[in-house]
Amino acid sequence: MEHFDVLIVGGGPAGLAAAATLGHYGIAALVAERRATPSPLPRATVISTRSMEILRSWRLEEEVRAGGVDGDVQLWECETLVSAAGGRAYEVGYPSRAQAAVISPTAPRIVPQDWLETVLRHHVETLPSVRLELGTEALALDNGPDGVSVRLRDQTGATARSS
Ligand SMILES: Cc1cc2nc3c(=O)[nH]c(=O)nc-3n(C[C@H](O)[C@H](O)[C@H](O)COP(=O)(O)OP(=O)(O)OC[C@H]3O[C@@H](n4cnc5c(N)ncnc54)[C@H](O)[C@@H]3O)c2cc1C
Repeated sequence: MEHFDVLIVGGGPAGLAAAATLGHYGIAALVAERRATPSPLPRATVISTRSMEILRSWRLEEEVRAGGVDGDVQLWECETLVSAAGGRAYEVGYPSRAQAAVISPTAPRIVPQDWLETVLRHHVETLPSVRLELGTEALALDNGPDGVSVRLRDQTGATARSS
């Protein structure tokens, strides 16, 4: 049975960011992600100023930005896409790039989640203390006196235990 200090179930943005944080401290972590490839759906499309600062501290700012579009984040309301030009913009709480420049070296960015996950996956794979197991599902957890153990199933259907 293999041992890790931290088990992360799920390699979405939260799990991958947790893995990167632990990896930068040299803490042994296993990330089990049941998908073998990232979701092709864009899903979340905005990264906040603070999240961009964290990505910048990992030297990922430019790579993350490269998969997005430049612009200030606003909500656009219109009746139909055909009449979009007659729509109206609303502020949704993100600073403009000019406002963010007063307080931060970076700014909120419009970047789809599938790109962010791809960048984070590649980054996590470079961290020596972290192991990213793709196509691996956590089936069950046992919380025993010597720690937590987890039963994992990989893409071939084989199961293994880690703690
Ligand atoms: C259609 C859609 C549109 C969205 N649009 C927006 C948007 O415009 N703006 C916005 O801010 N947010 C949006 N969201 C929400 C956003 O995608 C989520 O908030 C975000 O994905 C949460 O990240 P997470 O890492 O916490 O979870 P997830 O991204 O859900 O990651 C969890 C991961 O855990 C894995 N997993 C689960 N169980 C197991 C297991 N037992 N073993 C191994 N792996 C496991 C899953 O495969 C998954 O990859 C949208 C979501 C959807 C579905």
